[in-house]
Amino acid sequence: MFKKILIANRGEIAVRIIRACKELGIETVAVYSKADEDALHRELANEAVCIGDKNSLDSYLNIENIISAACLTGCDAIHPGFGFLSENPQFARMVETCGLTFIGPNPDVMEKMGNKSEAIRLMKEAGVPIVPGSYKAVDKEEGLAIAESIGFPVLIKASAGGGGKGIRLVENKNEFELLFNEAKEEALKFFSNDELYIEKYISHPKHIEVQIMCDKLGNCIHLFERNCSLQRRNQKMVEEAPCISISQNLKNKLYQSALKACKYVGYDSVGTIEFLVDGEENYYFIEMNTRVQVEHCVTEAVTNVDIVKNMIKIAYGLPLAYKQEDIKLSGYAIECRINAEDMDNDFRPNPGKITFMHVPGGMGVRIDSAVYPGYVIPPYYDSMILKVICFAKTRLECIRKMREALEELIIDGIKTTVEFHYVLLHHPTFILGHYDTSFIEGFIEELKENARLVQ
Ligand code: ADP
Repeated sequence: MFKKILIANRGEIAVRIIRACKELGIETVAVYSKADEDALHRELANEAVCIGDKNSLDSYLNIENIISAACLTGCDAIHPGFGFLSENPQFARMVETCGLTFIGPNPDVMEKMGNKSEAIRLMKEAGVPIVPGSYKAVDKEEGLAIAESIGFPVLIKASAGGGGKGIRLVENKNEFELLFNEAKEEALKFFSNDELYIEKYISHPKHIEVQIMCDKLGNCIHLFERNCSLQRRNQKMVEEAPCISISQNLKNKLYQSALKACKYVGYDSVGTIEFLVDGEENYYFIEMNTRVQVEHCVTEAVTNVDIVKNMIKIAYGLPLAYKQEDIKLSGYAIECRINAEDMDNDFRPNPGKITFMHVPGGMGVRIDSAVYPGYVIPPYYDSMILKVICFAKTRLECIRKMREALEELIIDGIKTTVEFHYVLLHHPTFILGHYDTSFIEGFIEELKENARLVQ
């Protein structure tokens, strides 16, 4: 097994990976920026190296500094976590060129599946259902012609996109040019790549994704689905597993399509295939995430499989420790992503000092966090500070457990989304489980009003 791993990330995912390494008896090296001198991941790792200034471009995205830190500390592998360099094939290639192992898929498959329009083209070839659209990057004129032929509304999406950035909904022809230009600018700003493609807008879809796990010997299994339809501005807020609002027949189709997709491209790590599902249970591939995801914890809870530890073992070249029939569902799990955000100011980030903090606990309650009392959240990075994951035998029991956990959770000094999540967990539509991606936006004012009442 690896002796020492550098974790090229920060926040709760860096802490999560350090914990997995400790359990596997692997030493860890944390990297941190000048803004993260008090960060928990720095404290928990065996060693820590400062890799640059507060701006991500100078630190967590600084390939040379990260690889130098790994070489100087004698690491034999790098885990990229999510975000930052996790889906950057140039980084993965450079890690391998320097004689280290990149903990993730091989760079070629990452490159193919990381570019969303290229991934869609490949999935079309593989016979996986996709959303009607351009199936490739297009310029403004081509894009408009395709939008007219498939019919408005359409989505303009960034090929290199992620986190809901670079996406524009276009209702009619007149808006197309302006929104195309806007999306191009945003894509360039966030991803240094301004390629755009067009997709038919699916009305009121559910976002259902399948967790997969493939080794480097060609074995591939799935770990069932997650329902990630509770989103605000195309960004996930709550995830649950399993999904109770689609048929078993459709689930089986999603699993088979996800495995087919992975086998077609020779995928060799953990990853996620994301689908949209419409009201008639038609399903469409939208993208693959070639990394561990924020919401991996709900799958870990319901399958009892440690996704991060297995990802490390796969990267080392070990065969999968499981056969498909070993993977069983043992209950229901829900995750709430708690962000340091001000709901009353359009959910803008609200970094600052945590003056007091109490986290819930007990059976079936997991907290993945990198914050602590007295910690000052820096303003330079993602606003997600903590995840609450609850697990129980039945979904209703799980909902109750999550409500109690959120009631107990106290984070003073900054504004967070705790109350918003709390009222979401009481909404009849959520309780029934039959929600789609438009649910939160549709009830946003009511949810905010109720959240103010419980503050
Ligand atoms: P990102 O990579 O930025 O996360 P995705 O392509 O995964 O972008 O889409 C994010 C979310 O946007 C989806 O979960 C869904 O809610 C919405 N979405 C994406 N594509 C479509 C579509 N064709 N029709 C309707 N909604 C969509």
